[in-house]
Amino acid sequence: MASLPDNPDALYGDVIMDHYRSPRHRAPLVNADIEAEEFNPFCGDRATLQLRLGHADGTSASIQDVSALAEGCSIIQASASLLADNLQGRTLEQAADLSQLFRDLMQGKPLPAVALSELGDLEALEVVRQYPVRIKCALLPWVALEEGLRRLNRRGTPGG
Ligand code: ZN
Repeated sequence: MASLPDNPDALYGDVIMDHYRSPRHRAPLVNADIEAEEFNPFCGDRATLQLRLGHADGTSASIQDVSALAEGCSIIQASASLLADNLQGRTLEQAADLSQLFRDLMQGKPLPAVALSELGDLEALEVVRQYPVRIKCALLPWVALEEGLRRLNRRGTPGG
């Protein structure tokens, strides 16, 4: 396993460092429909995710607002920010699909071009696979998303 660099800039690339330095969507939401928090004791990472839903097309709920708050290493902060950036406007089904695609990417599954274009700038996080101990960091905000979606399904879709 490669050792972790003291200065990760060169290694992780511009997209990750940009989101690490200027994380998006950190402001907490009032009246969130979905909230979940995940903690990784290994490196002290914490991800808190909030989603507010709307029913723009009258049928399926879509994500209108996202708050993703991450504490810990550069990777979890970049991953949470990229996740938040990519969730806005998606339906819950699309969010679940994106989460599965991102897992596939981080697990090194071969993805067709259409899947890669769906992932967009999230593909920048693939570099983290070179540091297996950090894969959990990249996935933690997505674990929070999946937990939030599961809770919502148990409770039933709000708003109706
Ligand atoms: Zn971490």
